[in-house]
Amino acid sequence: MKTRRQNWLTRALARRPREAQRAYRAYQGWKQDPVAAAAPKKIVSRYYQLKTGHAAIGTYLKRIRAQESEACRGCQAPKESIHHLLFECRQWRRQRGTLYQALDRAGVARPTAAEDHPEGRLLGDPKATKALLQFLADTTVGCPPGDLAQAAERARKDDEWGLEALEEAEKIGDG
Ligand SMILES: [Zn+2]
Repeated sequence: MKTRRQNWLTRALARRPREAQRAYRAYQGWKQDPVAAAAPKKIVSRYYQLKTGHAAIGTYLKRIRAQESEACRGCQAPKESIHHLLFECRQWRRQRGTLYQALDRAGVARPTAAEDHPEGRLLGDPKATKALLQFLADTTVGCPPGDLAQAAERARKDDEWGLEALEEAEKIGDG
């Protein structure tokens, strides 16, 4: 049992560098963006991960089999997607108000109910960068589980996340 788990973990970690490298190359480009350059590196890197679809949010963590569920960590909604976190999650209502006001100031239209993928529009609009970085700084959206744990109940959450991920992957592997 132990060996199999360790083998899986080794493979899972080996998969990461390729994605990390891609994100890092993108991140280097962003250093030329004065807004991004001025922001703390951890926040810019979360912003990048959201842009590239490789953020530590439910939908992606489930896809890479790092966890079984894609439910929202904040409100238990069934799907923790970028759309949910930016526009719907009730955990971030206050921070969303700040985000929308910042978008107004930047001259970026707020999302409307009729719009299919407002998250794509906002993440692709340089005028929205500052407002989004502020939102990320105000929230734990896209925080890797390890960083989240630092904020609250560090040891317990780390353990749960790591064990669940391993056990799930093992089940999937055994088919
Ligand atoms: Zn939520």
